[in-house]
Amino acid sequence: MQPQTAVITGEVFEKHRPPGYSHPERPARVRVIREEAARLASDGIVALLEPRSVPLEEATRVHDQDYVGMVAEASEYPQYLDPDTYVGPGSLEAALHALGTAYEAARLAYEGRYRVVYAAVRPPGHHAGKRRAAGFCLFNNIAYAAQRMIEDHGLKRIAIIDVDAHWGDGTAEIFYDRRDVLYISFHQDPRTLYPGRGFPEELGRGEGLGYTVNIMMPPLATDQLYLKAWHEIAMPILERYKPQLILVSLGFDAHKDDPLTDLALTLEGYWALLREVLVLAERLTGRGLALMLEGGYDLRVLRDGVRVVASLTEEEPPVREESVEAPGETVGRFRRFVERVKKALEPYWEL
Ligand SMILES: [Zn+2]
Repeated sequence: MQPQTAVITGEVFEKHRPPGYSHPERPARVRVIREEAARLASDGIVALLEPRSVPLEEATRVHDQDYVGMVAEASEYPQYLDPDTYVGPGSLEAALHALGTAYEAARLAYEGRYRVVYAAVRPPGHHAGKRRAAGFCLFNNIAYAAQRMIEDHGLKRIAIIDVDAHWGDGTAEIFYDRRDVLYISFHQDPRTLYPGRGFPEELGRGEGLGYTVNIMMPPLATDQLYLKAWHEIAMPILERYKPQLILVSLGFDAHKDDPLTDLALTLEGYWALLREVLVLAERLTGRGLALMLEGGYDLRVLRDGVRVVASLTEEEPPVREESVEAPGETVGRFRRFVERVKKALEPYWEL
């Protein structure tokens, strides 16, 4: 039987290397994913597919021409484009493969070739804006995939669900005044984490008002609170929006072991949340679900995350991880955040 899940990754994503000695966004992140995916592929559990590239001009579908040229030129030498974001000689090749692979994942999911397609790419993309590298990101992979599905396949409504611990400010910016892409992000309270924005009141502009949905989560937010936010906010909005395709910005940095953030999701929680997303995606769109890797800096979590993704089509999670109890203060803060999100969205969505 053909596997229901495909993982697209490859060595090319290890060519993007930090100039200094260490950086959390490092080649080993995708190496452990590739090794795990290869093991699962040899057991027939997933299909392991080769990354695809695109020509440089393709990046201008979501970025300014000048910015794209700057990234290409800067990548000739190891250097930092902002305090966090580096380039080097292999970066452009990796970044263009990340764009092509993100699109490939979206296309395969849309065509129903697999129920789940995981583009395990780097550099990540969701902080990259129209004319700006930021937060380890050069080109916005998921925005490119969405834009190309709209332009080349005629889609009119795509939903992007972002479960990375950080707000995807780049993705939000690119689609801020549009309603053909609904952006729903779960992220840690911006007052406590980069990029310091992503409040519920930042909900789009003009035509796009109400189509940016920022669900901020308090530090120490657990599996249970994420599922509550999904059921109370994200799910009812998606039911009304009726997307034709759902794409996921999959950051594993909301996991409790992540060194950069303060959230408390477990792998079991990721599985439960993403399983909800898959079931809804199949019901609303009749298509598969495409996931693009964003952050996540603990190698064990990234490796086991492949099994989480590969088990979304199953009834049970592949790993058991003890979920911690959220402190009362966290639960109280969470309730206030949920009410605040609902109030901000009141003119646009019935919740
Ligand atoms: Zn992140």
